Amino acid sequence: MYLRELTQTVGILKGAGGVISGKLEKAGIAAVDALLLHYPRQDKYEDHITRRALDSVFPPAGGAFGGAFSVQSEQNESREVCAVVRVTGISSIYIHKKAVPRILVSDGTAAASLLCFRNSELARSLVPGIPYLLWGNFTYSEKYRTIQSSDFEIEREDAPQEALTKKHFGAILPVYRLTEGLRQWHFRSLIQNALARFGAELENTIPEPLIQKHALMPVPNAIRAIHFPRSFDEQKQARLTLIYEELFYLELAAALKKGGAKPLSPAPDFSPLQKRLLERLPFALTEGQTAALLEINAGLASGQPMARLLQGDVGSGKTLVSFMAALAVIETGAQAALLAPTELLAFQHAQNAASLLEPLGIRAAFLTGNLKNAGRKYLLASLAAGEIDLVIGTHALFSADVAYKNLKFVIIDEQHRFGVAQRQAILDKGANGAEGAEGAQPHLLMMSATPIPRTLAQTVFGAMDVSALKGMPPGRKPVATRAFSSANEDKVYALVRNELKAGRQAYFVYPLIGGGQDEAGLFDEGADETADEGAGRGTMEESGLKDAQGMARRLSEEIFPEYKTALLHSKLEDEEKKRIMEAFRRNEIQILAATSVVEVGVDVPNATCMVVEHAERFGLSALHQLRGRVGRGDAPSTCFLVWTNPPVPIAREADGGKLEIWQKRLKVMLETNDGFVIAEEDLKLRGPGQIAGIEQSGYLALGIANIIRDAAVLEKAREDAFALVAADPRLEAPANGMVAAVLKRAPPFTGPQW
Ligand code: ADP
Ligand code: MG
Repeated sequence: MYLRELTQTVGILKGAGGVISGKLEKAGIAAVDALLLHYPRQDKYEDHITRRALDSVFPPAGGAFGGAFSVQSEQNESREVCAVVRVTGISSIYIHKKAVPRILVSDGTAAASLLCFRNSELARSLVPGIPYLLWGNFTYSEKYRTIQSSDFEIEREDAPQEALTKKHFGAILPVYRLTEGLRQWHFRSLIQNALARFGAELENTIPEPLIQKHALMPVPNAIRAIHFPRSFDEQKQARLTLIYEELFYLELAAALKKGGAKPLSPAPDFSPLQKRLLERLPFALTEGQTAALLEINAGLASGQPMARLLQGDVGSGKTLVSFMAALAVIETGAQAALLAPTELLAFQHAQNAASLLEPLGIRAAFLTGNLKNAGRKYLLASLAAGEIDLVIGTHALFSADVAYKNLKFVIIDEQHRFGVAQRQAILDKGANGAEGAEGAQPHLLMMSATPIPRTLAQTVFGAMDVSALKGMPPGRKPVATRAFSSANEDKVYALVRNELKAGRQAYFVYPLIGGGQDEAGLFDEGADETADEGAGRGTMEESGLKDAQGMARRLSEEIFPEYKTALLHSKLEDEEKKRIMEAFRRNEIQILAATSVVEVGVDVPNATCMVVEHAERFGLSALHQLRGRVGRGDAPSTCFLVWTNPPVPIAREADGGKLEIWQKRLKVMLETNDGFVIAEEDLKLRGPGQIAGIEQSGYLALGIANIIRDAAVLEKAREDAFALVAADPRLEAPANGMVAAVLKRAPPFTGPQW
């Protein structure tokens, strides 16, 4: 029986009466497997084995407990100790006029007090002078100048073995994350009962050769040992085993989905239409673009539907790569669709397509939800008739009434803005298209400017291929980044004024629209949702935040009256947005007061200033995207990060470090321009849970493993899983019977969406 087959209710366990099992159920621990999978908190065990001197927990600084304790000289910061002591006296202290018995003990190195809040009978039963085993969690009491504990266990050293077991001496005890109304001993005894009852039946799930290779332990032993380890070495090995198991099956699911497919070697050359576009371009492809494109060409030619993620930093030239890729498909007589998250971005792509592709005879069209009536009808008819080769648009591309004649290639820009269902909806247009469609899944190219480390990407996107677009088009100047306190905003405005005088343009970005409206999607990037709830989203007056509306007025009337300022945010009509962007592109407007709508894709080379006010409220990837809006022309550009010391700490530091998270984010921005580095820092600051694209992938169902922290194990697990599937694609060899059975009967992990 595998652990995940223990689906009996916890109610059958000794000690899990109706009340307890009800509470467990409420905490999501309804079945025995869930209980056993409720692993102890990482590295938090109570050591009832290692005997230490009482003073080893708090070595005195200058005389026996004379001065303040110096905790820093102690390596192990835990204040827990297990010692052999003698009782030296009994007294009481008064707390809220109630006497609490106090047992005084000493082990010769230090004295300690044990406060008997719960068991007031205990003090009387102890015999002075004889040795006792003591385990306790100690704090230092200034008042009594001694260490004291109210969380302790004490037992005669010569007590019979059963009594010791009951008090857990000689054991390392797990410490669990507690849930409403349940105590440590509930979990400890229930899990012990579950192990006693089912432990012997549990089967191993990691192939023996892999256990040997990585010095792991059989999984049933690991499950026992993670809860009740006999030593800390055993606990570490158990933990590693369970992390490996989880990641191994996760990678196995990906490997099987991929059918053990061998990596393709890049195509030798470009297609004829691609070559014609290259001849017309005013510049050469970068090396990175060429490499990515040849990989994509190979994928398209492989005879299988391609599914590929193209990762490249902001401004690395992904759009051109996707156009080139589309040409290879259009050449075969099929259709391509490019899906963009905003109307603005789609429009920009459509303009590019018109200038780059139409001269080659490609019939491109722009489809959005705003296209109505006759125009829409005509366009849809042309699409269905196959008279359009490339359609570019927003969500409208997969609305119900849109049919394609022969959709064979789907490009999704800024993929993290789309949900899994939406991605599938557009792919389905290939299979469900009008008459003539061949019914096969179209090729898919997803593009992302939020790059994540390669193994992570391959894992998160499971069965997808990953191409990295390295390097930037020539002539890019790195954007200078400077941070200012809002107290110095005048300096920022003066620096921007210099640029405006030189004929350049500027973006000013704010966290809120103003007038009580919030910019939808701003906090998608995971900045500070929790803090913001507390602060209450709203207008400038309520929140004390500058907002785009209010500042558009100030910028145009007070600060830069000599220049033209426009307001841009998501609640404007699409036509209005387009009109403003066009005017900005033509330099009829010099200043754009905006929200994060300018975060994606907008490409205006003459803009050299990006001012982000309330930078403390933006997530790292949003800041990086915003910074990527400048530095697109020949002139040097600057990104100004203007922070306002938040009245309420936005995100408190978990590790007690000196910087708050928002300060760390700004620090990263000042230190690097490299999107891959920023993505990694982002992962460290936020954990994988909030990274765009990952939360949708289903990979957060992981239990003990963490794909960032355990990246090294992930790498090994991936190698092992792929090697296994390459050698035995259908897991038919007898040696792989166990693996096949686990996947079939009780998969530790249900496979990825992609
Ligand atoms: P992103 O990868 O962020 O989507 P874009 O595709 O918008 O980047 O490209 C950014 C800019 O770089 C565009 O103005 C594009 O025309 C330009 N560009 C793309 N490839 C090259 C190249 N090989 N040489 C010079 N400029 C290029
Ligand atoms: Mg782009």
